[in-house]
Amino acid sequence: MDLFEYQARDLFAKHGVPVLAGEVIDTPEAAREATEKLGGKSVVKAQVKVGGRGKAGGVKLAATPDEAVARATDILGMDIKGHTVHKVMIAETAPEILEEYYVSYLLDRTNRTFLAMASVAGGMDIEQVAEETPEKLAKVPVNANEGVTIEKAREIVALAKFPAEVAEKVAEVLVTLWKTFIAEDALLVEVNPLAKVANGDVIALDGKVSLDENAEFRQPGHEEFVDHAAANPLEAAAKAKNLNYVKLDGEVGIIGNGAGLVMSTLDVVAYAGENHGGVKPANFLDIGGGASAAVMANGLEIILGDPDVKSVFVNVFGGITACDEVANGIVQALQLLADKGEAVTKPLVVRLDGNNAELGRKILSDANHPLVQRVDTMDGAADKAAELAAAK
Ligand code: GDP
Ligand code: MN
Repeated sequence: MDLFEYQARDLFAKHGVPVLAGEVIDTPEAAREATEKLGGKSVVKAQVKVGGRGKAGGVKLAATPDEAVARATDILGMDIKGHTVHKVMIAETAPEILEEYYVSYLLDRTNRTFLAMASVAGGMDIEQVAEETPEKLAKVPVNANEGVTIEKAREIVALAKFPAEVAEKVAEVLVTLWKTFIAEDALLVEVNPLAKVANGDVIALDGKVSLDENAEFRQPGHEEFVDHAAANPLEAAAKAKNLNYVKLDGEVGIIGNGAGLVMSTLDVVAYAGENHGGVKPANFLDIGGGASAAVMANGLEIILGDPDVKSVFVNVFGGITACDEVANGIVQALQLLADKGEAVTKPLVVRLDGNNAELGRKILSDANHPLVQRVDTMDGAADKAAELAAAK
């Protein structure tokens, strides 16, 4: 989960990373009071979860409260790389910026370790620096058990060749930034720029934090960062029902048991769709091992609630949960939905294979539901589901 800059700033402050005061607002007029509180001048910063705001005109200095209102008026509603600005942060202006550095920690999956990155050539062109002069970006693996002690931080600072007069201050920032990274279960913490300002201080002027959602069970405080407004309503409903669901762009609803099977089902449906006007999978939904009637009903309810869905492909490979149980689950789920007044109106293609497939198929045939078709091969079923979606 990516955070807004102001949220990253709050986490930095909590763990001792030096930041400037700031307040987030969502109306231009509110910029006046926020700027007055900061002594009459401020930086007006677009809050969007995308980089390059500065270059896009989303970061402006305001010398007076009136100017802050004018800049907030310009920036609120602006589109930055497809993200609409709904909030701006009114931040304290930094003393004159003398140098801009870059520091970050991230999870380096390839090397199965954490990685520290640091550069004295930070600022708005860091991507270019990384690409054209990679020697200016120090990359230092961090042992997860040892972490970043002040000694380790000094090593990073030396490798990145920070000037002597800021070396110790940057090392201290690296220690507090590591605390943020670990305490908050982050996958990424980045400061760009880490600015050296006129009075010699080193301050985090911009922050990016991405939190590990797998740690949410031990991070109750992170609930407040969830952007409910931006979440897809179907994904939110699925999450509330504990379903593993991802909304996609196509027309064929997909339900399967097991993430691997569902992934390959997406491929097979996309491939079959090429013969049927380019229809595509509408979602990923893994109902897992124990596909009870209730779970199947929940899954069908979510998928059928998606107006983009024109047909549904239920692809099940019976394992511990045998096909007859799944077939009963499907039949009961259709009944459950009908009883709730949400009778199914879209065609379902069901493919059952594996443990007790014969029995499962018989149960479906006996139920003889007008909208349910049985196709016993995965390719055949995918083709049928795509054809039905294209016909709608
Ligand atoms: P980004 O473009 O999305 O990374 O946004 P940043 O928050 O990093 O801001 C872009 C640039 O604006 C920085 O590299 C700084 O040069 C400048 N900037 C940010 N905050 C201040 C500030 O308080 N005072 C001044 N003078 N410049 C700032
Ligand atoms: Mn930045």
